[in-house]
Amino acid sequence: MTIKTSNLGFPRLGRKREWKKAIEGYWSNKYDLETLHQQLTDLHKENLLLQKNYNLSSIPVGDFSLYDHILDTSLLFNIIPERFQGKDVDDDLLFDIARGNKEHVASALIKWFNTNYHYIVPEWDHAEPKLNKNVLLDRFNYAQSLNVTAHPVIVGPITFVKLSKGGTQSFEEKVNTLLPLYKEVLQSLVDAGAEYIQIDEPALVTDDSSEYETITQAAYDYFADTGLGEHLVIQTYFERVNLKFLNGLPVKGLGLDFVHDNGFNLQQIEAGDLDNSKTLYAGIIDGRNVWAADIEAKKELIETLQTYSNDLVIQPSSSLLHVPVSLDDETLDTSIAEGLSFATEKLDELDALRRLFNDSDDSKYNELKARYERFQNQSFKNLEYDFDSVRTSRQSAFKERKKAQDARLNLPDLPTTTIGSFPQSQEVRKYRADWKNSRITDAAYKDFLKNEIARWIKIQEDIGLDVLVHGEFERNDMVEFFGEKLQGFLVTKYGWVQSYGSRAVKPPVIYGDVKWTEPLTVKETLYAQSLTDKPVKGMLTGPVTILNWSFERVDLPREEVQDQIALAINEEVLALENEGIQIIQVDEPALREGLPLRSEYHADYLDKAVRSFKLSTSSVADETQIHTHMCYSQFGQIIHAIYDLDADVISIETSRSHGDLIQDFEDITYDLGIGLGVYDIHSPRIPTESEITEAINRALQEIDRSLFWVNPDCGLKTRKEDEVKEALSVLVNSVDKLRKSTNTATV
Ligand code: GLN
Ligand code: ZN
Repeated sequence: MTIKTSNLGFPRLGRKREWKKAIEGYWSNKYDLETLHQQLTDLHKENLLLQKNYNLSSIPVGDFSLYDHILDTSLLFNIIPERFQGKDVDDDLLFDIARGNKEHVASALIKWFNTNYHYIVPEWDHAEPKLNKNVLLDRFNYAQSLNVTAHPVIVGPITFVKLSKGGTQSFEEKVNTLLPLYKEVLQSLVDAGAEYIQIDEPALVTDDSSEYETITQAAYDYFADTGLGEHLVIQTYFERVNLKFLNGLPVKGLGLDFVHDNGFNLQQIEAGDLDNSKTLYAGIIDGRNVWAADIEAKKELIETLQTYSNDLVIQPSSSLLHVPVSLDDETLDTSIAEGLSFATEKLDELDALRRLFNDSDDSKYNELKARYERFQNQSFKNLEYDFDSVRTSRQSAFKERKKAQDARLNLPDLPTTTIGSFPQSQEVRKYRADWKNSRITDAAYKDFLKNEIARWIKIQEDIGLDVLVHGEFERNDMVEFFGEKLQGFLVTKYGWVQSYGSRAVKPPVIYGDVKWTEPLTVKETLYAQSLTDKPVKGMLTGPVTILNWSFERVDLPREEVQDQIALAINEEVLALENEGIQIIQVDEPALREGLPLRSEYHADYLDKAVRSFKLSTSSVADETQIHTHMCYSQFGQIIHAIYDLDADVISIETSRSHGDLIQDFEDITYDLGIGLGVYDIHSPRIPTESEITEAINRALQEIDRSLFWVNPDCGLKTRKEDEVKEALSVLVNSVDKLRKSTNTATV
């Protein structure tokens, strides 16, 4: 039996981020709309033709977008935020909704399931659903004009409604409103020659998917009644589905993830749950990591699937949106490059399997198999670790540590501090780029960094902050910086992945065993400390965050990689302590977002996260104060884990949801040090003294004053220098007044 190959989505960004440059060029008036369209059409064409090289049976269309595919769908169905209504539905409106304009704030951005991609949240308040310009049909026709066999991709009604907010209608009412509109779009695509349409329903893999089963059944029955069922493939990814339920849906095929399902999708198939009159679209190549596939294991998986399915299509486990385009432009050591696979290499893996099964041509298969084996046997994967020799809990309990720390630090009532970074000004970025491209010497760059540190130590002293920071000017990104310095990580040249809109991140790749080989942050921290009598905090990124924001190894259990990173961070913590640094902050902003999609895995994830954090922070003496920092505001689910970190002080983002967060802290007795972010650093707006005073007073109703710190809610790297100075002065002045008023009141 022959197999087919397909794809679910391709990176929009382009090999050298052409997409970003085109869009940002339009935003800054460098290009007009026509030029933008021309550039994007060229890039779309390149993406389609690139995929065509790999002999796919069908190539996705509808994955390409001007900003975000969910926003495209909102515009298609006229789900326009109320404040943006009444204007022409065109590309400028699309950008306004995504980015905000002078009059109106942008729509919210939310993480796409458990990935680092963010979509624009559809807003239903007073929306008037109807069909707008059918861009999807245009793109499909365009692919056909290039002689590309394509299938349109559209997010399905259940997922679309689940991801949206607002409106007074029920979930079901919203779905029902959309169904006739979907029908019209789907029909237009079938009429234009689409053999099938990939209808993405990742909502069907989440914990609460069973709540939507009735609605899902009704929706797909509706499509089937209008004759569309035989053209629809329900595509899921990132977790397992309830296969018995999906089988009952009257559609042509089902797309399942066989990589991120913890083995459960295959188990259900082996239990006989697959209706084999349906085409099985099997996601067997990891669509969201950068490792070359264990091609032999994939061959065996196909053989197993063939015994249960009469019509098998193999494909990546999800859209390739989550990986970079191609390794061709990288200059990596062959021994490492052999182990990697970006988007085009993944399509090549599918092609190798297709040739093996359909053409009895095993040449490419054997080559990939040999590469995979060579990579797995590399010496950089065989370090020995003695995890048990490192402490996972502090010597004394918090109360005792606090006494030792208070005596040593002698901080005032309501101590003030910041989260670590100061503005990454144009100048800072230019110096770093010049240094990276060898346009200036190491010495010149170091001098510049020293000046910048000295300047900001003075600024912090003048403002009157109590605990100072060096400003993180030497860091491009809080994870990439550590990735560049730790053994076992590599940083690619063009390994960019879209995060939101035109913004891309370049996650470091953890390719081997992780090891600390030299101090990473000690010089800058010590230099800053040498300039002031106030304590300077050492600033590190924690193991959970480093792992979450990297491409992680998959040949080891995740927790083992995380613990390896933890040991490296522990070395750095000790190096700082050894040099006399009294406060060390280990940031974990990604701890919350790494939470698995299904709640049955939460406890295990959190246990391991807590263990790794403690592995990296518990070896210090009692009088060394460990801080941590987290962003995001929904802590409810993880508040116990946060407490278990046993950090002496935690600073968290709260200014955007003050009440909720304090509520979370009411539910447990949080008797460790805590700094609640008292103003929103994401906005250029300067807070007023009374806002800050009020925020502090409100928090003090729940939190013991002797444990309370005052700080902004995140790092200040994206703000302008004047904004930072002004806002921090307001913060310090508010605290001064509070200190005075309480002293006169209580003394
Ligand atoms: N220390 C980091 C900074 O200030 C923390 C950033 C973050 O929480 N994302 O930039
Ligand atoms: Zn933060």
